[in-house]
Amino acid sequence: MTVGDTGGTVGGSAVAAAIVAAEHVVTPGGTLSPGWLRIADGRIAVVEPGEPPTPATHRGVWALPGFIDMHVHGGGGASFTEGGPDDARRAASFHRAHGTTRIVASLVTAPVDELERRSAMLADLAEAGVIDGIHLEGPFLSAARCGAQNPRYLTLPDVGAFTRLLAASRGWLRMITIAPELPGAPEVIRAAAAAGVIAAAGHTDASAEATAAAIAAGVSHATHLFNGMRPIGHRSPGPIGALLDHPVTCEVIADGSHLDDLIIRLTARSVGPGNLVLITDAMAAAGMSDGAYRLGELDVTVSAGVARLADPATGALGSIAGSTATMELVVRRAITAVGLPVADVAAAAGTTPARRLGLAGVTGSLRAGLDADIVLLDQDFRLDAVIARGERRHLAG
Ligand SMILES: [Zn+2]
Repeated sequence: MTVGDTGGTVGGSAVAAAIVAAEHVVTPGGTLSPGWLRIADGRIAVVEPGEPPTPATHRGVWALPGFIDMHVHGGGGASFTEGGPDDARRAASFHRAHGTTRIVASLVTAPVDELERRSAMLADLAEAGVIDGIHLEGPFLSAARCGAQNPRYLTLPDVGAFTRLLAASRGWLRMITIAPELPGAPEVIRAAAAAGVIAAAGHTDASAEATAAAIAAGVSHATHLFNGMRPIGHRSPGPIGALLDHPVTCEVIADGSHLDDLIIRLTARSVGPGNLVLITDAMAAAGMSDGAYRLGELDVTVSAGVARLADPATGALGSIAGSTATMELVVRRAITAVGLPVADVAAAAGTTPARRLGLAGVTGSLRAGLDADIVLLDQDFRLDAVIARGERRHLAG
């Protein structure tokens, strides 16, 4: 699709009081067909079935909670992993124009002092309301399953290093991805959980036993289940088997490249509607044309929309390196290609990540009292409009 500009904020207009009506309004208590909402002072004041009492300011076929992306590195040609605050603002703005009303900025593995600096910069942006938290994807990951993480900077889990990163992020560190099998992982997992940071298993070669032990220590989330993990085997269930065997939340990248849609269906059925989380894992190339990009220090080539590591000498392509997806795309595919119920997809893209991020009392559902974070989709589940904290952002065709 085409967006008016990559900043994605064209025509942003404050909606002090407005009525949103849709043929289907997806709420925690069920889908209202039709239904409507009143927005007042940036919040949802009323959600009701039927037609609104006064003409609607905005109309759509589907009204869903604004999308919440817990795992995203960039988009619109900019990223959180390199560049300055303006690049991070551009990346957040690009994704907001595609329906992501709350965003957790993901960093890739880098030297710990560099991660400290970037976490401090992102904490500034979180305080300014640009992002909603920080996710550290590394540096305590498995070299055998590092994917597009720079192996040079992988280190063994260390509570001292974690504590430095936690301090640098000034309360905005929401999640850290760890390989549970590494020595020292249980200590960092316990430290993260005690600090209210989601300990996520990912980029791991762990056995099922080691993963189950990590879950007992505090792991409560799976970073892009299946990708960057030892595969599941019928006699060696590995991390995937253990994660599916416990009530943890599981991320999936439903972009049509990272996972077969059948695998997402099986995962959704296995974890249940309250534990599936749709993410993009997008990098800077999201929304851009094919070509050469960077993910942290690594060269990435995007061809036919699929980002892969590129050998700087030979140009040979390696691991998939993040995605070029938007939440709009993964939500539409989860409904139309994977075949999940719309209400379950709304939960996986909004309600569940809100709960995991401690934002359930603020956003993630269409109910009175929460921030007016709303997406309007057409009959084909294409984005019509994004309302973020009561402010509408128009998309140009
Ligand atoms: Zn990632």
